[in-house]
Amino acid sequence: MPRPIEAVIDAGALAHNLARLRQRAPGARQMVALKANAYGHGIERVFTGLAGADALAVVDIDEAQRLRGLGWRGAILLIEGCFEPRDLEACSRLNLWHVVHRTEQIDWLAGHKTREAHQVFLKVNTGMNRLGFAPAAARAAWARLAALAQVDGITLMTHLSDADGPRLGAADGIAHQLAAFDAACGELPGAASLANSAAVLRHPEASGDWVRVGLAAYGASPDHPLHTAADWGLQPVMSLRAQVIAVQQVPAGGTVGYGSAFVAAAPMRVGIVACGYADGYPRVAPTGTPVRVSGVATRTVGRVSMDMLAVDLTPCPDAGCGSWVTLWGADGQGGVQPVDEVAASAGTLAYELMCALAARVPTRTQAKPL
Ligand SMILES: *Cc1c(COP(=O)(O)O)cnc(C)c1O
Repeated sequence: MPRPIEAVIDAGALAHNLARLRQRAPGARQMVALKANAYGHGIERVFTGLAGADALAVVDIDEAQRLRGLGWRGAILLIEGCFEPRDLEACSRLNLWHVVHRTEQIDWLAGHKTREAHQVFLKVNTGMNRLGFAPAAARAAWARLAALAQVDGITLMTHLSDADGPRLGAADGIAHQLAAFDAACGELPGAASLANSAAVLRHPEASGDWVRVGLAAYGASPDHPLHTAADWGLQPVMSLRAQVIAVQQVPAGGTVGYGSAFVAAAPMRVGIVACGYADGYPRVAPTGTPVRVSGVATRTVGRVSMDMLAVDLTPCPDAGCGSWVTLWGADGQGGVQPVDEVAASAGTLAYELMCALAARVPTRTQAKPL
């Protein structure tokens, strides 16, 4: 028998979340970020939930190829662009759109032989200082691209660093970047793409022509704990669950796990769960990290081991060996353990937990509700 742990991927929840995000920005076309193997969910597993999307975004050509193999005929954007000139051949062959964020990428395009001209996204660095042309260089880059026979259309693009909250001392995290974008290329023709999940939810008026949604599409909240995923009307796409494989009766003063990091104040029942950091559960999640056992909210106790972690069974006297424990996601009994809460407890973000789901965890797509 395999270890009693599984991740369940609900493509229907993804479709629901995309519809919610569409309601926030009804005038914009919707691009869904599928990089990092669909944020750890598996491109093939979420694919049926993507039917309503207008375009998909990936980082690796390999991921674009898989999407074409699945039958996706729509637009696919390489969101970091080409890494070397040869990548342009894949763009022509697979009909990929690509980001252009530095001068060499324009040089490569100028030397590229293609029958069909390419759609490109010209990326302007409006303050994130990660990828993109400086605002002062944006017009010249646009003009060079516009003059190339290899280029058919240019969408203007930037990425927002603080759409999920305030910036430094400012109340608003995006105003300075919107202003920089407008100053850099406000009068240039073509569509614009600015908003990630946080911007679509918190600043829908700034969505532009193309939104690029990731995290919220997978059912996590970009501004947790200010808003929960439920506040935004989002449903979890990934649920990680495992069974209790042993129960310990721990006396007062007894300790649990490595380093005796947890000491029982009173006698208590502790469930040992078949999930550890080698499954992608964060080792740094301390005692008190929320978890659901048989649909009842409780907490972890002690340190997370490689293959196991411990939970407090005090609130769930009926739970025992074989009980299902929801580490994050839907518990199958109408309850949800938000991945955002686990991430917060571990000092990280839902992005990282989703992407870190280990390959060894058996994963299935949801056939019927858990
Ligand atoms: C991943 C990514 C997005 C999506 O971001 P979320 O915060 O997950 O919505 C948008 N734009 C770019 C350039 C990205 O790399």
